Amino acid sequence: MKNEFPSEYGSRLVNIIMQDRETVHFYNNIADNKLLSLSESFDAENYTGIRSMLKEKKIISDDSLNVLDVFCERINEGILNGTDSNSLSTDISAKLPGTDDFRMCHLHAFFRRDENGRITDIHYNIRPYAPKEIFDREVLQNFSSDKNPKIFSKRCRHVIDSNPDRDIAFIQFDVERFKLVNEIYGVDKGDELLRFINDSLAIVCTDEQPFCRLTADVFMIVTPFDTKDEIIAFIRRIESMLCGYKGMEYRLIFGVAVVDDRTLHTRRHGDNASLARQLIKGNAMENVLFYESSMKSELHKKQAIEESMQNALLDHEFVMYLQPKYSISTNRIIGAEALARWIHPEKGMIPPAEFIPVFEENGFILTLDRFIWEEACKKIRELIDNGIEPVPISVNISREYVHSYDVVGELLRLVGKYDIPIHMLELEITETADPNGVEDIVKDMKKAGFTMLMDDFGSGYSSLNMLKSTPFDVLKIDRHFLEEFMDSDRGRKIIEHTISMSRDIGLGIIAEGVETGEQAEFLSHCGCDSAQGFYYSKPIPAEEFDHRLKTVNG
Ligand code: C2E
Ligand code: CA
Ligand code: CA
Repeated sequence: MKNEFPSEYGSRLVNIIMQDRETVHFYNNIADNKLLSLSESFDAENYTGIRSMLKEKKIISDDSLNVLDVFCERINEGILNGTDSNSLSTDISAKLPGTDDFRMCHLHAFFRRDENGRITDIHYNIRPYAPKEIFDREVLQNFSSDKNPKIFSKRCRHVIDSNPDRDIAFIQFDVERFKLVNEIYGVDKGDELLRFINDSLAIVCTDEQPFCRLTADVFMIVTPFDTKDEIIAFIRRIESMLCGYKGMEYRLIFGVAVVDDRTLHTRRHGDNASLARQLIKGNAMENVLFYESSMKSELHKKQAIEESMQNALLDHEFVMYLQPKYSISTNRIIGAEALARWIHPEKGMIPPAEFIPVFEENGFILTLDRFIWEEACKKIRELIDNGIEPVPISVNISREYVHSYDVVGELLRLVGKYDIPIHMLELEITETADPNGVEDIVKDMKKAGFTMLMDDFGSGYSSLNMLKSTPFDVLKIDRHFLEEFMDSDRGRKIIEHTISMSRDIGLGIIAEGVETGEQAEFLSHCGCDSAQGFYYSKPIPAEEFDHRLKTVNG
């Protein structure tokens, strides 16, 4: 078994880069306080050998080979001499499964320790950067050096130190949902907008007000001030100057941190402003928020999640729950959705709403999704082996990373590994603002034989566009859509017609979040026979599902 041999640094690294999908996570055993690796003498599998193979086969770029050398040295160094940090990471550019192009990837090494704090093993995780992250990097690379964050930080320090009698504010802002601007108006226009913002700031800000572009669409300004009204007025001025560029519609959101402790590193104030800004997201009424220390707990929560996610996976804290889907007319179970749960040893069950968005941001969702996909396949195999008539299980696919690697290949591999009929694994993807973005991938998935569900239908704004161009098999009506529209005659008509429309164009339909008998009856009356929701069953542990299936379906 590939996963079981005592691993050795170089070969493991090669495994992963060589697209051996079995080893997205791999580890080093450490003996005698030393990595079983680079420093040992070996023949065919020595690091130099591997290195030249990587080079020869052009699996990673030449530049990245050097990066890898340094990375390996740093890891060895950490093991030999001890290190306080729990992880090390670097960027390399590598070829991913099924592609010929190099993609920028994040290589992350996590150290695990024994009770004495000694490193016992290392887990590696490699993931391709999401397009948004790559975009950020590219934009920043083209950026003039005086806006370099280090210099900016120095200038901030100067503003703080040279204005002992005035207050100082760190103002961070971004274009809310900038991705949408790119999707709606095109990447070129998006780029142009960011340049416009950058150039305008140079006009609005005085020498006493340093500014910097932190990522593609996040900017920071530092300014001395005397009253809070002055800050608000300054922000409104920026806003009126920057909004409505070339008729585009977008909103700017501002987080403000007022410096209380002048001895703190400027980055801390920046972080506070950033936190305030991020807490505005989704709040339609406010676009300016001042940082308060109570906001920290939100941040801590997120950090705690990021710090523990890797070990949580290794310690089996993530589990798959299954929520049965029912036929309204027969009351039989016709399928299930696989949903991730995090059972934390101290905090208990952490709801997906808390960790999924964090994982979507940091890329760990790739790892979690693949784990859940595998669990779902395992479950189907188990049902078949136990002589229970299986039902299709649907899994969620995060669309952020759908282009980053060979999703279809990965899913097919799992179907093969567990030897299950392909129609038993169904795939849910949410609708998106950019129908072109997922169209090809959905087509590929369908071609491979998977049943495709459009998740959360009716929660976005381009559902109809997406329907027109992307070949889904089933619409999944969003639970908020059902809840909100059931209330009025007009709303009910819309649901009714959505259902009959989907039938007309040959799509299946299922309603999610069915909570009452009345809702089920109404859906059935409209011609929708499939339902998922608390009225029928909450998501249940996978072990319980077998029993449920047997008692309900007989
Ligand atoms: P979703 O894909 O829309 O999943 C359905 C959510 O609705 C689940 O929430 C489910 O528990 C909830 N739900 C089902 N019936 C009812 C009902 O009658 N009333 C109400 N109020 N809620 C109901 P859950 O499990 O908390 O998951 C939330 C979201 O987290 C999911 O929304 C999905 O977007 C994401 N998620 C969960 N597991 C995974 C995963 O493994 N991978 C990915 N990428 N996302 C996941
Ligand atoms: Ca779903
Ligand atoms: Ca859904």
